[in-house]
Amino acid sequence: MKKDLVDRFGRKHDYLRVSVTDRCNLRCVYCMGPEGIQLIDHKDILRYEEIVKVINAAAELGIERIRLTGGEPLVRLGIEELVAKIAAIPGIKDVAMTTNGIFLADKAKVLKEAGLNRVNISMDSLKAEVYRGITRGGDLDKVWAGIKAALACGLSPVKINVVLMKNVNDNEIEDFLRLALEYPLHLRFIEYMPLDFHDEDWRGKYLPLEVVLEKAEALGLPLQPVEENDSSGPAEMYRLSGAPGMVGLIHPVSRHFCDKCKRLRLTADGFIKPCLYWQGEFSVLPFLHDNVELKCILQKALDYKKERHAMYTENQGRQENGIVRGMSKIGG
Ligand code: SAM
Ligand code: SF4
Repeated sequence: MKKDLVDRFGRKHDYLRVSVTDRCNLRCVYCMGPEGIQLIDHKDILRYEEIVKVINAAAELGIERIRLTGGEPLVRLGIEELVAKIAAIPGIKDVAMTTNGIFLADKAKVLKEAGLNRVNISMDSLKAEVYRGITRGGDLDKVWAGIKAALACGLSPVKINVVLMKNVNDNEIEDFLRLALEYPLHLRFIEYMPLDFHDEDWRGKYLPLEVVLEKAEALGLPLQPVEENDSSGPAEMYRLSGAPGMVGLIHPVSRHFCDKCKRLRLTADGFIKPCLYWQGEFSVLPFLHDNVELKCILQKALDYKKERHAMYTENQGRQENGIVRGMSKIGG
């Protein structure tokens, strides 16, 4: 067996996104319908020791960075125990989390002490009512408390994910840019991805991120492109003159970054997904008792990985890929 996770296109994979639950305390409009999603049965969700076994095998194949996601990772009980176990795995250099931040104020310190290095927090509006609308009920004050707790306890960097949507939050680009001028936050604007077609009007909300560059220029706040230390990430990074924070643009739709993709995903019910956008997934469940077999299934998933995603053509996504998992079931 090959030692490293190198795919057919020469991409060496060192990053695993782990969805720890499909449950969520919010119902963001871009992620799911108002009724939520069909939940995975509790008994089918991987236990922490099972997740650790998969990560152990992955680390032996060169995975160095783990991101916990969901659903909402902070709704899973004792998540800090999982963080501590992962941080102790030989070869794992970085443990991160993507969260909606609602429960972060209470958890940031204990997560940091357990070994979490950094956090991405989704906050799509700076206006309480708009935020409540996008998330179908979320409380912006709680997210802010979470962001402040994350900064205070030394999780670094703290990144803010903003899915930009036409006529929803695109009139807040300036306010978000000014946030990077005020706080050491990385603001990351993300294009709306049509993942599971729960939103038939996604095209009506979709905005290419050039609008951010144009708006910044018009405001006299031009964005200077920079190479991020971690150049493997999906974001194009920019510096804002005089700002402690940074700005990132993630354009999965208008400019795919598949050639730089180094990531695999583990779903909460135990499937390795080589690509967010292709249906193919490989169950780890039959192999949890055997580290060598786990490594084989990781390799097999990688061998399936395509050169690039196919989200440009709605019909291709729907018919050929037969996408069945939405974002909250994969973890973004
Ligand atoms: N619940 C956590 C959160 O919201 O941060 C983690 C899971 S969520 C699925 C991970 C990321 O996916 C979030 O930053 C969210 O904004 C993003 N996301 C979800 N649906 C999306 C979509 N249709 N297009 C672009 N980003 C999306
Ligand atoms: Fe929940 Fe995150 Fe999806 Fe929003 S984006 S509904 S917070 S999983």
